[in-house]
Amino acid sequence: VELVKPDLCVIGAGAGGLDAAAGAALAGKSVVLVEQDKFGGRRLTSAVPSRALIAAARAAHRLADAEGFGLTVSPAQVDFDKLRAHLERVVAGLAMDSSKERFTGMGVRVIEGAAQFINRRRLAVGEAIDVRAQRYVIATGSLPALPEISGLAEVPYLTDDGLLGLAEFPRRLVVIGASAVGLELAQAFRRLGADVTVLDTAEPLAQEDAECARVVLDALTRDGVTVRGNVAIESVAKTSDGVAVTLGDGQGVVSGTHLLIACGRRPNVDGLALDKARVKLGPQGIIVNPGLRTSNRHIYALGAVTGAQPFIHVARQHAGLIVQNALFGRSARVDAEALPRLIMTDPELAHVGLTDAEAERRKLDFRVLRWPYAENDRARIERAAQGHIKVVTSRRGRVLGVTIVGEGAGDMIAIWSHAVGKGVDIRALAGILLPYPTFSDIGKRAATTYLTLAFKRTWARRILGLLGR
Ligand SMILES: Cc1cc2nc3c(=O)[nH]c(=O)nc-3n(C[C@H](O)[C@H](O)[C@H](O)COP(=O)(O)OP(=O)(O)OC[C@H]3O[C@@H](n4cnc5c(N)ncnc54)[C@H](O)[C@@H]3O)c2cc1C
Repeated sequence: VELVKPDLCVIGAGAGGLDAAAGAALAGKSVVLVEQDKFGGRRLTSAVPSRALIAAARAAHRLADAEGFGLTVSPAQVDFDKLRAHLERVVAGLAMDSSKERFTGMGVRVIEGAAQFINRRRLAVGEAIDVRAQRYVIATGSLPALPEISGLAEVPYLTDDGLLGLAEFPRRLVVIGASAVGLELAQAFRRLGADVTVLDTAEPLAQEDAECARVVLDALTRDGVTVRGNVAIESVAKTSDGVAVTLGDGQGVVSGTHLLIACGRRPNVDGLALDKARVKLGPQGIIVNPGLRTSNRHIYALGAVTGAQPFIHVARQHAGLIVQNALFGRSARVDAEALPRLIMTDPELAHVGLTDAEAERRKLDFRVLRWPYAENDRARIERAAQGHIKVVTSRRGRVLGVTIVGEGAGDMIAIWSHAVGKGVDIRALAGILLPYPTFSDIGKRAATTYLTLAFKRTWARRILGLLGR
C-alpha cells in the first residue's frame, strides 16, 4: 500500500473540487485529487448538455416566431441523433479546462477511484493507496432525489442527470417535479415538438417572486406545456408505449412515452464512510459551519454535498473560501444572502437577495421599484417585450434584492448581484451611463423611479406642511 501525505486531499473532480485543487496547487501546496468517474462532475454530465438543449429549443422557437419579423421560414424539424451529437460536441469543447491532464500539469496528483475514509485523518482509494492529508475537502456533489411513488422502481425513467443517455426523442413527456430544471427541460422539449405535462405536489416556483414566477408559468402555458401543481401523485405504471401516472383525489391519469424525474437533489455521500471520519450529516447534506468546516476540524466540504443551493457558482465560491480557510488560516465566511440564481426558461428568471415577500416577512421598511420590458426600446426591437424588473430597496435606498423576468435576465442580474453584495445605493445605479439600446436600461429606469418617488414624497410633505400652517 502506497502512503501519500499531501497538504490537501480533494475528493471529487466536479466544479468545486477542481477549483479547490487548482487554487491550492497554484498557491504552492501539495494536492491529491480523487475522482471515481469522469472529470468535470455534473457541470459536464448535466448542466452543460441541458443548457445546450435549451439553446437548441430557443433556436427552434425563434424560427417559429420569425413571421413577426416579416420573415417566412419553415418550422424546424428535429433530428434527435444530430441534436444529441451537438450536445456531446458542446460538452467535449468545454471538457479541456476540467481535464485530468490539465490538473496533472499543475502538479496535482490525480488518483482515480472511489475515496473512503478509514478514520478521522486517513482515507483509502481502493486497496493500493492510503492518503494521510493535512486537510481534506469533500466535494462529492449530489445525486437525483427520487420521490416515494408506488411503482417507480418498476418503470423506466430518466433523471435530470440522464439527458446525454436519452436514446430517442420523448414524444410525450411526463415530468414529475416542477423544479427549475424540470420546467426548463419541459419547455425545451415542448419547443422541440414533444407533448409535455409537468406534475408537482406543491405550487410551482413557490420560492420565487410570485409575480415574476407567473410570467414564466404563463409563457410555458402559451408554449403548450401543461403544468399541474398541487396534485397528489399516487402511482406510476408501465403501459404498452411508456408510462402512466395516476393522480390522487380522482384527478385522473397522465400518460406519456417517457417519464422524467426532476425532484431536486440529495447529497452524494455514498461509500465515503463519513461515520469513520466523524463527519456529521444533516437532512440537507454534510453539516458545515459558515467557514465550510465539518464536525471534523481537518475536513471541509463544499458545493452540492453540503445541501447548499446546487449551483456551479456556489461550488466554485466555496472552493475559493476553503483554500483560504483550510490552507492559510483565514476565517472567510459564506454569504448566502447575495447569491444570484437563474432559471433558464424563456423568458429567463434571475434573482439575487430578498424578494418583497421576504422583506415583508422580516418586517423591513422597504420600497419596490419596477420597470417593464415593454417600455424598453431594445426589447421592442427584439420582439422580447415580455417581463419586468422588480427591485427591493431599503427606505434609504440600499439595494436589498432584485428579480428580473425577461430576455437576458441572467446577464442583467450581474450588476445587481454586485449591488446587493456590496449594499450599493440605488442612486448610483440610477446615474449609470449605458449604451443605447440595451436591456440593461430597464434596470436603470427602475432605479430612477426611486428618485421620482423620493421627489414626490418631499413635495407632498412640503405641500402638507404649507397647508397645515
Ligand atoms: C440538469 C442539471 C442542470 C444544471 N444546470 C445548472 C446551471 O445552469 N447552473 C448552475 O449553476 N448549476 C446547474 N446545475 C447544478 C450543478 O451542476 C451542480 O450544482 C454542480 O455541478 C455541483 O458541483 P460540485 O462540485 O458540488 O459536485 P459535482 O459536479 O456533482 O461533482 C462531484 C464529483 O465527485 C465525484 N465523487 C463522488 N463521490 C466520490 C468518491 N467517493 N470518490 C471519488 N469521487 C467521488 C463524482 O464522480 C463527481 O465527479 C445543474 C444540475 C443538473 C442536474
